[in-house]
Amino acid sequence: MTRLAHGGARTETRSGAEWFVRDIPAHRAEKQYLCPACVIEIPVGQPHVVAWRADDFFGDEVAVRERRHYHAHCWRVR
Ligand SMILES: [Zn+2]
Repeated sequence: MTRLAHGGARTETRSGAEWFVRDIPAHRAEKQYLCPACVIEIPVGQPHVVAWRADDFFGDEVAVRERRHYHAHCWRVR
């Protein structure tokens, strides 16, 4: 089952597209990421959100590879 394969991610609709969204807690934030919304880095240890397209034309594998890390705030206001 696809949804379970995504490790408990929830789905959200943003600008007409469906996304898988997962919260990254502080202890799992082990790398620095560049938030594509504000182009400011998310520091190690800061809780944030990772999102990828649920309806990607190229399939789940590509969508997961191209997932993006957002500040929790940036994702909410997106
Ligand atoms: Zn941001």
